[in-house]
Order: sequence, then C-alpha cells, then structure tokens
Amino acid sequence: MTNATDFLLSVEGLTVSFDGFKAVDDLSFYVDENEIRVIIGPNGAGKTTVLDLICGRTKASGGSVKFRGKELTAMREHQIVHAGVGRKFQNPSIYDDLTVFENLEISYPRGRSVWGALAFKRDAAVRERIHEIAEMIFLADHLEQRAEYLSHGQKQWLEIGMLLIQDPQLLMLDEPVAGMSVNERVKTAELLNRIIADRSVIVIEHDMKFVEDIAHKVTVLHQGKILSEGSMERVKNDPKVVEVYLGH
Ligand code: ADP
Ligand code: MG
Repeated sequence: MTNATDFLLSVEGLTVSFDGFKAVDDLSFYVDENEIRVIIGPNGAGKTTVLDLICGRTKASGGSVKFRGKELTAMREHQIVHAGVGRKFQNPSIYDDLTVFENLEISYPRGRSVWGALAFKRDAAVRERIHEIAEMIFLADHLEQRAEYLSHGQKQWLEIGMLLIQDPQLLMLDEPVAGMSVNERVKTAELLNRIIADRSVIVIEHDMKFVEDIAHKVTVLHQGKILSEGSMERVKNDPKVVEVYLGH
C-alpha cells in the first residue's frame, strides 16, 4: 500500500465552492518526484482553480494539499512559494522595460544581506546562475535585450526562468504553449523534460501533441472531478474522455 507521504504532492478530498457551486469537488491526486503531470479537460472543468488552490491564491472549502509533508491549505501564498512551489500564470508577469538579465536578477531569491568580499562572491554566484538559466531557457544570446522586444514564446520562457532561478521543487504552468509556434512548442517540451531532473512539474495544456511529448501521467478533469487518469495512451482511449473532451 502506498502512503500519501511517499509523494512530493498529495491532494486529497480537495473541494472549493463558489456560491454553492463546486468548481473543485472532492479531488484527490498524487504527484511523484521528477514527474511531469498534465491536467487536461474542457473549459470550466476546474483546472486553473486546482492550481489556485495549491498555490494558496484560492482558499479551499475542504480537503488537504500536502507538499513534502507540509499542509499547504493552512499556509499563505508567500509561505507556499517559500516552501518550494512556483506558479506561472497564463499571462507572463515579466518587467517589459528591464533586460532579460535584470528580470532574472530581480527574481533571484534574496538571502541575508552581505558585505565586502562576501557580497562580491555572492554577485558572482548570481551572475553564474543567471547565465545557467538563460542557457536553459534559450535566451543566452538575449541577456541584454529589453523584455518588451522578446517574442511571445521567449517571454513565456523568461517567466519560466524567473521561476526556475528560485529553484522550486514543484513548478506549475497554466497553458504555457498557448500562442507559441510549433518550433517553440518543441523547445518548451525539451525545456520541461530537462528541468524535471531536479523537480516536478504540473502543466495544464490543451495541445495534445505537446501533452504526448511531456506527460508522464495525465489527469482529466471534468466538472471539478477526475474523469480519467493514467498514461496518455490510456486516457486518450478512454471512451469517457473521448466523449466529453477529445471528441470535440
Ligand atoms: P478551467 O481552468 O478548467 O477552464 P476554471 O478553474 O477556470 O476552469 O473554472 C472552473 C469553474 O469555476 C468555472 O465555472 C468558473 O467560472 C468558476 N470559477 C473559477 N474561479 C472562480 C471564482 N473566483 N469565483 C467564482 N467562480 C469561479
Ligand atoms: Mg484555465
């Protein structure tokens, strides 16, 4: 028998009501270390709300979200970030008038302030980390470019980089490839497959080709509940999934 604490994230009986309407209804799912989980489902299924509940943006009416043994539903949003959960929203929140380098720099977690030789060493470490991340997000040649001049896809990558620099153990992305070119989608899949060496990722996505490229497991939501769950192969051949989602 598996124990809920064997997982990086254990969601159990999670429920939220908006004026009596249950947008997420007694939901349970479990995410492993180094896993890419994709959540799919029709519009209004409750996908974004699930991420809102995990990151503390929306307060649960009931149930539990355990992350590395900590109960997240009892924590504030910034405490959840501090615990190691990063969340990317649908619209990138980057600073248009700053360069790529500066956007990454301001996202670097601030520790105790230090002086003199120590500060110098710290600055060198920050710069090194920024270059490492820029390489990973395909922006190494754009460090001095103002963010406003990046393509839509590059802006999405920059925001992922701004989260990665904080080294979250769980990264949550809401429709990251929406509006991206085919080539950018392929590169984003590559990026996600690389970053899970050190973390897990939950992705909401509609692009089934992209989902096939990244998903270890797929959770299909419908009316706030799980309609189907398992490998992509399994859920895409599930008649219930074809009926309410893939058939359209
Ligand atoms: P999805 O991301 O799967 O398209 P959402 O999680 O955004 O779905 O929404 C699920 C349902 O919950 C929708 O019917 C939506 O209108 C409702 N909903 C989401 N957030 C709120 C809120 N803050 N207040 C009231 N209703 C909400
Ligand atoms: Mg949504």
